[in-house]
Amino acid sequence: MHRRDLVQGIFGAAAILVVGGRARALARDEYGPEPQVMTVRGQMHADQMGVTLVHEHILANFQTYAEWAKAPLPYDRDEVVKVVLPRLLGLKARGCRTFVDATAAYLGRDPILLERLARESGLNILTVTGNYAAFDNTHLPPWVFTDTAEALAERWVLEWKDGIDGTRVRPGFIKLGFNGGPLSEVERKLIRAGAIAHKRTGLTIGAHTGPAVSAFEQLEVLEKEGVHPSAWIWIHAQNEPDVTRHIAAARRQAWVEFDGIDAKSMDQHVGLVTRLRDEGLLNRVLISQDAGWYNVGQAGGGQARSYELIFTQFLPALRAKGFTPAEINTLMVANPAEAFAIRQRGTA
Ligand SMILES: [Zn+2]
Repeated sequence: MHRRDLVQGIFGAAAILVVGGRARALARDEYGPEPQVMTVRGQMHADQMGVTLVHEHILANFQTYAEWAKAPLPYDRDEVVKVVLPRLLGLKARGCRTFVDATAAYLGRDPILLERLARESGLNILTVTGNYAAFDNTHLPPWVFTDTAEALAERWVLEWKDGIDGTRVRPGFIKLGFNGGPLSEVERKLIRAGAIAHKRTGLTIGAHTGPAVSAFEQLEVLEKEGVHPSAWIWIHAQNEPDVTRHIAAARRQAWVEFDGIDAKSMDQHVGLVTRLRDEGLLNRVLISQDAGWYNVGQAGGGQARSYELIFTQFLPALRAKGFTPAEINTLMVANPAEAFAIRQRGTA
């Protein structure tokens, strides 16, 4: 399906679409005319992504690595599908076509489950490679501390080449997690490994970050490694209170991702997106609910936050602020397609 059809479907027949050109133009420079993304069911053109949620979760397991390695909490994939599939179909009915599952390795990433849900729902789903140091390093396997950055990157590149955990499912981006303060030694290694893996695969780096201090130290490491900021997503940027830091990162062409949209945060999120738009930087902004999820260890997966609030409340709130169909399209279609397109982004 063509991007224009999708968007007319969701944003009204009157929407005149002037998007898509930008993503292609950027990629055409040196990376070929048709940027690709990697879903759990294989490769596709980035401009087939359509309306995309860039950071949500299907399932999460918050056991620490040590607990998990000793005795992983069991769950029944059939039951998870029974709980989650209706939610994904609801999303599809809203016009969503692609769902980026941001669940990191050792936090419940399950390629078999994701591949099945993609097949049964018809949504495109992306999963990750990488390692996650947030929550005080408790989700890091021991080798992250002993490997070199090169060796760590090699593990992720192998997942990219051969598939994750013995499956044929390949990652759509590199998900890293940081604790938010000045980079620790292991965090510095993680972002360096991210840079190395990016240069070898072209996969985008999505970094759970929060405060600006961590964000800009990561950018510094990337720069030293010759990786352009446009290859990197500042995840949870809403947790940095100083909007001038978001603007500074966006001016450098990093992706600034405001996550966790919910009923209570509506004004804050509308304010942030509007500010970036007013600075002429809407084309660097990503938004998400960071919602879901089937919580392993809780009966029936526990209480989940809805995936649909963006459609039922947030986009209407933006429209009420004067956002045009083309601007909504930038947020929901063009930016995700450009952010997750696979291509090496060097500084040279
Ligand atoms: Zn998340």
